[in-house]
Amino acid sequence: MKRYQLRIDGQACEPQGGAWFETQNPYTGTAWAEIPRCDARDVDSAVQAAHRALTQGPWAHMTATQRGALMRKLGDLIARDAKRLAETEVRDNGKLIAEMQGQLNYIPQWFYYYGGLADKVQGSTLPLDKPGYFAFTRHEPVGVVAAITPWNSPLLLLAWKLAPALAAGCTVVAKPSEFTSASTLEFAELFDEAGFPPGVFNVVTGFGAEAGSPLVEHPLVSKVSFTGSDATGRRINEQAARLLKHTSMELGGKSPNVVFEDADVEQAVYGAISGIFAATGQTCIAGSRLLVQESIHDVFVERLLAVARTARMGDPMDPDTQVGPVTTPPQYKKVLDYIDIARAEGATAVLGGAKGEGAECGQGWFVQPTIFTGVRNGMRIAQEEVFGPVLSVIRFKDEEDALRIANDVRFGLAAAVWTQDIGRAIRMSERLQAGTVWVNTYRAVSFMAPFGGYKDSGLGRENGIEAIRAYLQTKSVWINSGAVAGNPFIMR
Ligand code: NAD
Repeated sequence: MKRYQLRIDGQACEPQGGAWFETQNPYTGTAWAEIPRCDARDVDSAVQAAHRALTQGPWAHMTATQRGALMRKLGDLIARDAKRLAETEVRDNGKLIAEMQGQLNYIPQWFYYYGGLADKVQGSTLPLDKPGYFAFTRHEPVGVVAAITPWNSPLLLLAWKLAPALAAGCTVVAKPSEFTSASTLEFAELFDEAGFPPGVFNVVTGFGAEAGSPLVEHPLVSKVSFTGSDATGRRINEQAARLLKHTSMELGGKSPNVVFEDADVEQAVYGAISGIFAATGQTCIAGSRLLVQESIHDVFVERLLAVARTARMGDPMDPDTQVGPVTTPPQYKKVLDYIDIARAEGATAVLGGAKGEGAECGQGWFVQPTIFTGVRNGMRIAQEEVFGPVLSVIRFKDEEDALRIANDVRFGLAAAVWTQDIGRAIRMSERLQAGTVWVNTYRAVSFMAPFGGYKDSGLGRENGIEAIRAYLQTKSVWINSGAVAGNPFIMR
């Protein structure tokens, strides 16, 4: 079994407590590697290293152009190692190799884009209302960033934080999920090779209470950038607020995928399927509430079932597999519990609704692709994030009804509208309460498009030009160009 080391201050090192824990392969259900079990001592070493790099090391004196060049080199190395890193993620989180390979091939773009942006951050001169001064703004790195990530897309979601943070000149301590730490530890090895000074990027691994919490509370951490569940996000935001730290929160979702009677049915069916069954439904943007207009409901569901029935569960390393296992045993139990809850609430499972147990499922934690009809929006299955391959189909009458149902949820991460009517697409995109609205598509993301949540889905935005602002703080500089005059006891 492989035993991983930590990456702190550019060095591979052992956890100070001398403890490791096992990480499992969701397809075989067996442990395949050992991950360092960090505690507050390792966190302190990592944060101290990041703080030294921020304040004293060569990183602190580099120009933004030089930082950008290092980031582009890092992007090249990720592209070179994409296959290896993708395979590590599949082994650790059970996502399909077909999807992970695409994701890893795409991640370098974050480092190219933000590497290019690094030296385009400009302050401005201020047309002051007071004579005798020249004043301007500078945008400076916010400080040491704690990047805490979940298990569903470890390296992609890390890149969303890391690329703008490095472009801004920050240094970073990452804490990946205890279920999927391996790819982040392997990725960290590329920093040396790319030429980053030690301490710019450090990784601590382990559990939320033992490693995550001390990282959030460390006095030298200035910003906590978190992606994960809304319950953990709330707790971390409270902790960080007490210590007056900056935060960004990317949390859960319960996204509506709204199909009108004038939609292109084939496209909408594909959008509904990829919305909920891609990544086995384990994405924050899963289109887990399918709102279908009454007039086409039965025909649409029939077509949806015809396509969904063809889903091939199996080994995620097999490029032909379409639905992989659930990533963790607690998540497996949670998804199956929600299926029971939906049935008890009166919803009808018209597809799946059970564990996946055939030979193709190995010893993995599989849940059959599941579709519930007869769901009312007040049911728990329509209000709570399941994070699994479970779709709730809800009927609506007209546009107003669709909007009322779509927005009647505490989350607001994403939404989609399927219609051929451009006016309706515009009206819906204006009134849907979500950080991303797709029209006649689902699940598209890009380094260029701001991403984040309305309502309980989060605070702040990742991706796009504005994301770099989350890692900068602004300083106003005043220069007196005249003699100081007047009464020194009165503020000018
Ligand atoms: P989680 O909240 O259980 O864990 C996320 C991370 O927080 C892990 O690294 C965990 O170790 C750490 N953590 C836990 N307790 C902590 C504490 N007290 N202090 C500091 N760190 C702590 O989430 P998860 O189950 O790993 O991920 C699934 C969730 O992530 C879902 O709710 C999903 O919607 C959300 N998610 C959101 C986005 C987005 O961009 N909005 C993207 C992907 C996933």
